[in-house]
Amino acid sequence: METRTVNILGAPVAKLTMEETLGFLEAMLEKGKPGQIVTANAEILYKASRNPAYLSILRNAALVTADGSGALWASKYLGDPIAERVTGVDLFQALLPLAAEKKWSVYFLGAEQAVLDLMIHKIRGQYPELPIAGQRNGYFSRDEQQALAGEIHDSRARILFAAMGFPRQEEFIARYLEPMGVCVAIGVGGSFDVLAGKAPRAPDWFARHGLEWLYRLFKEPRRLKRTTALPKFIFAVRRQLKNKGI
Ligand code: UDP
Repeated sequence: METRTVNILGAPVAKLTMEETLGFLEAMLEKGKPGQIVTANAEILYKASRNPAYLSILRNAALVTADGSGALWASKYLGDPIAERVTGVDLFQALLPLAAEKKWSVYFLGAEQAVLDLMIHKIRGQYPELPIAGQRNGYFSRDEQQALAGEIHDSRARILFAAMGFPRQEEFIARYLEPMGVCVAIGVGGSFDVLAGKAPRAPDWFARHGLEWLYRLFKEPRRLKRTTALPKFIFAVRRQLKNKGI
């Protein structure tokens, strides 16, 4: 399944709309071909540009979507614009009713136990038909990873939603995609907190102006250090254009 991509700091970011992305995932699930989906924002793309092992995860993924206005801006700046954002949280919310309809079983991995329980309670109420294969909070040690991959395998889940923040979720998925036996494994960042109602989504005004990062910064000032990745990302993209590609 080939798809058009734009090279942002070495990572192939898909030029797909949300609807096309859902079609792509549906085809993957119908064919049963396992693949990793990365929903990449500026922080992820910048980290990948500095870390070859992380970049190779993005290069080997079945799909890297443009999660965030930074990625969208970069595609435009590089002269190959992506039509719209395909964020982890939107993709997650769009996949749930589709999975309920198609009877694709899902596994929820990540967030704190209370958040996970609350989110699953809400999802069960909203999509009673959705087959939930299993769940596990996102706080486990490296030594527990292999056993966890085995549990996910035994749950026979078709879709894994991993919400442990980056780069943890991408690294876990890349390492255990095959042994887990899932078809689609997707990193969805802080989405479980959003669905549980713990972390409010930025109001529309912020989203329309590409300022969700600013809203999150107001809400969680401890993110300040992470926000410094944004200007670094912008400089790196400018350098990419000047050097004509990476
Ligand atoms: N988290 C987790 N395991 C960890 C650290 C974090 O499951 O070891 C969860 C955390 O509870 C939150 C999500 O990962 O639900 C990270 O959210 P964040 O907003 O940091 O996502 P990012 O912006 O990094 O993708």
